[in-house]
Amino acid sequence: MGLRVAPDQGVQVPIVEFREVGKSYGTFDVLNQLSFSVKPGERLALIGPSGSGKTTILRILMTLETVTSGNVFINGISLNREQISGREFSASEDHLRRMRAHIGMVFQHFNLFPHRTALQNVALAPLLTGRMTKAAANERALQLLDKVGLASKADEYPARLSGGQKQRVAIARALALQPNILLLDEITSALDPELVEEVLNVITDLRNETDMTMLLVTHEMGFARDFADRVLFFEQGKIIEDGPPKTIFQSPHHERTKSFLRKVIAAGQRV
Ligand code: ADP
Ligand code: MG
Repeated sequence: MGLRVAPDQGVQVPIVEFREVGKSYGTFDVLNQLSFSVKPGERLALIGPSGSGKTTILRILMTLETVTSGNVFINGISLNREQISGREFSASEDHLRRMRAHIGMVFQHFNLFPHRTALQNVALAPLLTGRMTKAAANERALQLLDKVGLASKADEYPARLSGGQKQRVAIARALALQPNILLLDEITSALDPELVEEVLNVITDLRNETDMTMLLVTHEMGFARDFADRVLFFEQGKIIEDGPPKTIFQSPHHERTKSFLRKVIAAGQRV
């Protein structure tokens, strides 16, 4: 018998991993021992009732919130702890900035800078990194605005744009640093119904044309089903069900998932 070489298991480092993460506000536990991981390129939909912790998860990833306990890893590197000469410390602002550079986020309420044009909103982050000249940052910003169908609005201020247009500028801005993780938090919830589709179409194009890892929080169940490879259903900061959209939406295992979907359908949504 010859020496047996272990076959390559193709073990892949998760691009995102939550390991026993806790997050509390005062005595209120939003997340408690939450663990899950995301493979590079996965398209995840996070669904669940309001208050179940979905936004908190994205905000932790974007380094806008710190965890109370546990660890978050991006590409195997701790987001919240930093190794310096073999010792571990809370992450420095520098470390957070480096980690955040992999990630783009789009918010429910756009959060555009009102006193900057669409182009300036998109060009700002690349300019601030100091790695790009103004001309190069503007050229990239214009390409991104073109990609979301808004090249003609480059010089408009947000106040002169519709909600759907503002959200498309926000998407272009989130892409400006070429993130490999894109976080989308209820990005159509603040829009008039007739403006939802133009925003979802942009997301569908990104889904189909890039290999970005995408985490989408949404109340649009029909869109979640079409968009996601995998759906996580949350309740009170816990994952109740985790599976492919077909299973979650057509034959969920858990009573709580079923009752959530019944409520959503009763509210008039296609699932
Ligand atoms: P979701 O996005 O699923 O609706 P969130 O992550 O926004 O849920 O919130 C989860 C819970 O945490 C909610 O009960 C919310 O009120 C609470 N929460 C969120 N942010 C704060 C905060 N800054 N201070 C206190 N409580 C908060
Ligand atoms: Mg939320």
